[in-house]
Amino acid sequence: MKVKKGNRKKVSKSRSSSAQAAAGDYDLRRISLVKNILFKPERYKYIRKKEKVDGCVFCSSSRKIAFETLCIYKSRYSMIVLNKFPYNSGHLLVLPQRHCGDLLTLSPNEYEDLMSTLRVACKAVTDVYAPSAYNLGMNHGSSAGAGIPDHLHFHVIPRWAGDLNFFPLIAQTKVVIETLEQTYQNYLGYFNNRV
Ligand SMILES: [Zn+2]
Repeated sequence: MKVKKGNRKKVSKSRSSSAQAAAGDYDLRRISLVKNILFKPERYKYIRKKEKVDGCVFCSSSRKIAFETLCIYKSRYSMIVLNKFPYNSGHLLVLPQRHCGDLLTLSPNEYEDLMSTLRVACKAVTDVYAPSAYNLGMNHGSSAGAGIPDHLHFHVIPRWAGDLNFFPLIAQTKVVIETLEQTYQNYLGYFNNRV
């Protein structure tokens, strides 16, 4: 009986430790799941929402070319601004000056100007940062992952071989090797010399 009890205890201990191990495994799985959530674009949207800004951040803060607004270039209908939360050094946003969240409702002039400004941004990224490649794209609408869906914006992100993939960058885990001030100065010098 005692032996059986002992065995039972052993079994119980063993169950307990295996339960713990299972719990440990479960925890690991949970951590893994949490990581997956953190690495989704929604995380980036969440981070952006924590920044309380009255009205549209692009409309309220990007009216003039200055580091305070992060606006670095303006065309007739469009502008180029630095991303306040860059995925990589030199990350630019290209957007219409008018508050608009639907590409199809831009006027022909606004659309053409936006596309030519996008090209200006691609040239600036290439000339200033000499990346081996760049990400170029737009999340159109909140379901597509747009952090600020009501104001269209293209992303232009310099990329180098061996840098982190897109999801860790979105999760803010990328170590961006320069400050926003440095990035702004780099582009400011470029655009001042370009004009
Ligand atoms: Zn706006």
